[in-house]
Amino acid sequence: MLAQPTILVVGNATTPASLDDLTAFAFDVADRLQFPARVAVGMDYVVTEYEAVVLADDWLDAVPSVVLGVEAQSADVPCLTADEVYAYPINDACGWCGETGNAVPALVGDTWTPSVHVACVPTLRRASTRPLAVAA
Ligand SMILES: [Zn+2]
Repeated sequence: MLAQPTILVVGNATTPASLDDLTAFAFDVADRLQFPARVAVGMDYVVTEYEAVVLADDWLDAVPSVVLGVEAQSADVPCLTADEVYAYPINDACGWCGETGNAVPALVGDTWTPSVHVACVPTLRRASTRPLAVAA
């Protein structure tokens, strides 16, 4: 299993534009489900390592996302659709300090963190052993 429970976000990532859309959707996943949300690019992922798999609306449009989605379903990994994700409210409590208000996910490599305050991101960066690329 991964170091922390993470959700794999599966959808069409075969063009830069569709990857942008999928990355934006993964932001909503992290914002609403309060789990780290990794954007799946290609199909080199072990779906059973993930807490759940979220299937973007266009997941049937590309071979890698179809493979991952079908793998997840046949391995009994919990699968959520975009509609199910949007049924959750936006959660603006900070996943780091616990205070509410103005907390949003931060992109760390290919993974959105749960909502955090901008001010808490440097703390996260120090706490992590991986190189980080936090979106502005
Ligand atoms: Zn905070």
